Amino acid sequence: MKTIGLIGGMSWESSAEYYRIINEEVNRRLGGVHSAKVILYSFDFAEIEELQHRGEWEKLTQVIIDAARRLENAGAEVLLICTNTMHKMFDQVQENVKIPMIHIADATAEEIKKKGLKKVGLLGTKFTMEGDFYRKRFEKHGIETIIPSEDEREVIHRIIYDELVVGIIRDESRKKYLEIIENLKQLGAEGMVLGCTEIPLLIKQEHVDIPVFDTTRIHALKAVDFALQK
Ligand code: GLU
Repeated sequence: MKTIGLIGGMSWESSAEYYRIINEEVNRRLGGVHSAKVILYSFDFAEIEELQHRGEWEKLTQVIIDAARRLENAGAEVLLICTNTMHKMFDQVQENVKIPMIHIADATAEEIKKKGLKKVGLLGTKFTMEGDFYRKRFEKHGIETIIPSEDEREVIHRIIYDELVVGIIRDESRKKYLEIIENLKQLGAEGMVLGCTEIPLLIKQEHVDIPVFDTTRIHALKAVDFALQK
C-alpha cells in the first residue's frame, strides 16, 4: 500500500472527511483491521483565508508548494490538495514535487463522464466559481460548466466561509443552496458539482433530484485507488 499525503486544514472540517473516507475505503477493500497510510499537513485556515481574501495568490502558491515538499520528504507517494479552491495553483505545485498529484476536477470529470453528462452546475467558493482553473479543466474533458448569478455566488461563498468551515450546518442555508441548485437546473444543468470540500457536509444526494458530485468523496476514493494499485 502506498502512503497518501494530504495537504489539509482548508478547512479541517473537510480534511476530517478525507481522513475518514480514505480509511473506511481501505478497510472496506482490504478487510480485517486494515487502514490507510496517511501523512497529513494541516494549515491554520485563518492564515490561508486571509491571504485568499487579500488576493495574495503567489504567496499562497509558495505556501502550498512548501507543504507539498514537506509531505514528499516525509515519505508521501501521492499528494492531494484537500480543497477545490487551492487547485488554482495545482500545476505550479506539481512542477515542484516528483511524486504524482491527483487533480480534484479531473477525478470529478471522470465521474461526470461515467454518467454521460455534458453540462453541470458548479458550486464552490467565488474563487472556484469565477476563476477559469476549474471550468477549463472540465472543458478538456468535454464538460460545460454553468455557475450561479453574482448574488447567488455571494450567498454560496459566505455560507462556506462563515458556516461550513467552522462546522455550522443550518437548514436555512441548505434551503438557500437548494434554491440555487434549482435555478441552475432550470438553466440546463444535468448534474451538480459540489466543488468545495465542505459543501457535502450540507448537501447530500438525497436533497437533490439530479446527480450530485461530491468532490471530497470522489477525490478521496481516487487516492485509495492509487494507494492500492499493484
Ligand atoms: N474547502 C473549500 C474548497 O474546496 C474552501 C476552503 C478554501 O478556500 O480552501 O474550495
